[in-house]
Amino acid sequence: MLNDDDLNRYARQVIIPNFEEEGQEKLLKTKCLIVGAGGLGCPVALYATAAGFGYIEIFDDDVIEISNLNRQVAHKTSHVGINKAENLVEECKKINPSISIVSNKERFDESSNITNFDLIFDCSDNPKTKYILNFLSHKYKKILISGSAVQMEGQLAIWKSGVNVDYPCYECAFPKTNEKAPITNCREAGIIGPITGIIGSMQVNEAIKEIALKNYRSKAGYLFLYDGLTQNLEKIKLIKNYKCKLCSN
Ligand SMILES: [Zn+2]
Repeated sequence: MLNDDDLNRYARQVIIPNFEEEGQEKLLKTKCLIVGAGGLGCPVALYATAAGFGYIEIFDDDVIEISNLNRQVAHKTSHVGINKAENLVEECKKINPSISIVSNKERFDESSNITNFDLIFDCSDNPKTKYILNFLSHKYKKILISGSAVQMEGQLAIWKSGVNVDYPCYECAFPKTNEKAPITNCREAGIIGPITGIIGSMQVNEAIKEIALKNYRSKAGYLFLYDGLTQNLEKIKLIKNYKCKLCSN
């Protein structure tokens, strides 16, 4: 049962059909991991906090620089030099002090423990971390909601290969190769700030539906491609690779 404070705070979402008080109770019981406290991590953490996910942990070992501020909207000019995860947690607490939210200043790697979480937000900006998140999420049967954004384009996908063997994993769609990867990070290729806001908001929207919406059909197994120039949103059905080294053994 929600208490009066919760009923008040979440009033505008508990009246949504198929979400209701039961949906809010599910969010409050959900433990989320957010990997990355930058362009995607900021909107993801702010909206996940506001929505009332009950426990949130944010990983980032990086510090805030002035060139981050065109998109990393939780970080302010006066925060330059502070650790991103720590600062994002402080900003989130101002929105919703009734949930638990903690920072982790370590670099996320294969040894990071994800067993406690129900849901993982991939807000990283490099392929290495994305492969690690895919490996761990598959192994420990977690829902992985992955975003990326560069220049004026963004991508979104929900990965649930550990939950259901018929769903593809990140490596089914993006196999590891020895070829030199194209430049996809914001530092070198650039980024228009609102693109990260759009994709990050979409990540939390997918998380709310996955966790809390009744009679909801998951969008796992699709890749969403957003083009901020043309306003096209493409939905591509991904094929499970039954020879995938990661998810098909
Ligand atoms: Zn796979």
